[in-house]
Amino acid sequence: MKHPENSDDYKGLTVNKGIEQPSSVNPYLKLRRPPRKRKLTVGEYVEGIVKGDVTILSQAVTLVESIRHEHQAIAQEVIEKCLPYSGNSIRVGISGVPGAGKSTSIDVFGMHVLEKGGKLAVLAIDPSSERSKGSILGDKTRMESLSVHPDSFIRPSPSAGSLGGVARKTRETIILCEAAGFDKIFVETVGVGQSETAVHSMVDFFLLIQLAGTGDELQGIKRGIMEMADGIVINKADGNNIEKAKLAQTQFSNALHLFPAPESGWTPQVLTYSGFYNIGVKEIWDMVYAYVDFVKGNGYFDYRRNEQSKYWMYESINEHLRSSFYNHPVIREMLEEKERQVLNADLTSFVAAKRLLDTYFSELKK
Ligand code: GDP
Repeated sequence: MKHPENSDDYKGLTVNKGIEQPSSVNPYLKLRRPPRKRKLTVGEYVEGIVKGDVTILSQAVTLVESIRHEHQAIAQEVIEKCLPYSGNSIRVGISGVPGAGKSTSIDVFGMHVLEKGGKLAVLAIDPSSERSKGSILGDKTRMESLSVHPDSFIRPSPSAGSLGGVARKTRETIILCEAAGFDKIFVETVGVGQSETAVHSMVDFFLLIQLAGTGDELQGIKRGIMEMADGIVINKADGNNIEKAKLAQTQFSNALHLFPAPESGWTPQVLTYSGFYNIGVKEIWDMVYAYVDFVKGNGYFDYRRNEQSKYWMYESINEHLRSSFYNHPVIREMLEEKERQVLNADLTSFVAAKRLLDTYFSELKK
């Protein structure tokens, strides 16, 4: 083509043919799609748990805690299959009011019991966690040494549901942990009432952490909680608090004498210690092991576990019936109306309840 630029004499700017650019995609990079999470089968869950695979154990616990029906169905099957591998552990309930030093203590208690080997699971029952959105108990950040120990498994309290529901999930998690080879189980709870009964119904030893106070602290403790304790330990016996702790020890020991002798035949002991300075911790665990030897010797250990199984059978029935009733669509529709009628005194509570139940049972027959 005749154009000044094509002339050999042209001295101006010319457009050169470019060179081919390499691909902007690294050819050595294998394009991989993120693997889709495959759902494990019941058999795979059980196999993983029994092998001691903590990732699979965690996933199974998540299923136990899930409120979804299909998750619950798998969880129940996994629990049932893990049951024959469970039971071989010492289960200790640890209770105390907020600030009593539970997390500090569990950290040192845990490190102490792991010195002899074995594996420790720390679980929790914290019914308040639903309200506060996020469980406080069993939080890994509260237990600095244990949380990085390779033989510990820390799981915060399940948060959804009623105390009964939360407790059942913790009880089921115990079974899974035991099947995974955890031979020491701690169940932590706040010492404020009902949740102690739930913890007591799933442990072999119930340890109550107390603080020395002004001298009248005994009045603040619910009698029922003290009666459940197999051991009372007074924390923060350090510095200028030692004398007060010793005084509290005497007061608690005296108070324990006022209660009827425990069914186990064991005399609950009162000890002082300091979780923070790790003083007196060995003595506490010597006491727990002495208790276990004692009740294994007199048959109470197995008796208590059997009684607990019975208790949980009834608890499960109650919970299933309750949830089946309240989740029934017809009942859900009727409830609000009946509630209003009762509030307006158009119906008595008993008649309203009867009508709801009658409707429920006739719905079941359909
Ligand atoms: P929790 O709420 O029962 O879990 O209690 P924490 O373990 O969080 O402890 C509450 C506070 O008490 C923290 O500031 C701890 O440092 C302190 N504490 C715990 N154990 C001891 C102890 O043995 N001695 C002293 N002096 N303080 C302690």
